[in-house]
Amino acid sequence: MGQHQKLKTFDTSSDDRPGLDELVPSRYAVRVGEIEALVVSDGIIWIPAVAMATNADPASRSAWLGDRFLPPDRLDWALNAFVLRSGSQTILIDSGLGGEYSGYPRAGQFVHRLAAAGVDLASVTDVVLTHMHFDHVGGLLVDGVKEQLRPDLRVHVSAAEAKFWENPDFSRTAIPPEFAEVIRRASMQFLEEYRSHLCTFEEEQGVAPGVVVTRTGGHTPGHSVIRVTSGGERLMFAGDALLPASFDHPEWHNGFEHDPEEATRVRLRLMQELAANGSLVVSTHMPFPSVGRVAAEGKLFRWVPAWWDY
Ligand SMILES: [Zn+2]
Repeated sequence: MGQHQKLKTFDTSSDDRPGLDELVPSRYAVRVGEIEALVVSDGIIWIPAVAMATNADPASRSAWLGDRFLPPDRLDWALNAFVLRSGSQTILIDSGLGGEYSGYPRAGQFVHRLAAAGVDLASVTDVVLTHMHFDHVGGLLVDGVKEQLRPDLRVHVSAAEAKFWENPDFSRTAIPPEFAEVIRRASMQFLEEYRSHLCTFEEEQGVAPGVVVTRTGGHTPGHSVIRVTSGGERLMFAGDALLPASFDHPEWHNGFEHDPEEATRVRLRLMQELAANGSLVVSTHMPFPSVGRVAAEGKLFRWVPAWWDY
């Protein structure tokens, strides 16, 4: 192949599809038996370092960050959404941040990256929400998105989650009031716009062949994870149940958790399950592509990134 043809790969001048000129990959495909899965990066958000471990002593929090060559004051966080194709269904799992929040200029990319990946919004049959924080529902609130979605779209969310956001309680979180207001408004807008599409469930619901959503609670009262099983292979989309520090410090409370003690119990239970069955796991805020496994080492856990496959 000549030089000209190689360069042509990056040349998008004759093609106005957005996203093709991105030199850092933002989507990663995995197969789980018969089911096709695609991690799509919405970009990067950040949290104050103190919010990643509200109950840790500052020295051990700084040590954790320092050991990873991360700055001491603020933590860049990946924001990943997920797409599944099972049988005739195309399923979005969460939707990133959307475009309304000026503090996060590097996020809100999900919708155009979905288009660049060849996933047409009109082909989406189901949306599954891990929970209704703004970094998970925001992509569905972007202008023009709802109009492209099908009128018979099903949005699966636990009944506890939908109920919680009617009148949310932030008292156990470390979210500043003005920020809580932004989060509350996004969830209210989501409930207003998508109420007629909601397919709520109590504890568990089958979404498609091999795709089951199960409520865990903890991070939010209706927080849920999605288990994908096909042809003897497994993958879990863990949402915000597993965060970057969860493996070394499952006991650290994240400031966005509405019930931090329960969130710790949930992640311990999930990590034990994942370490025992060797399932792949993808979680929202692990670095892209966020595909890996969990190993158990005594009482601690270790994140084992999957080796990229082509
Ligand atoms: Zn989140």
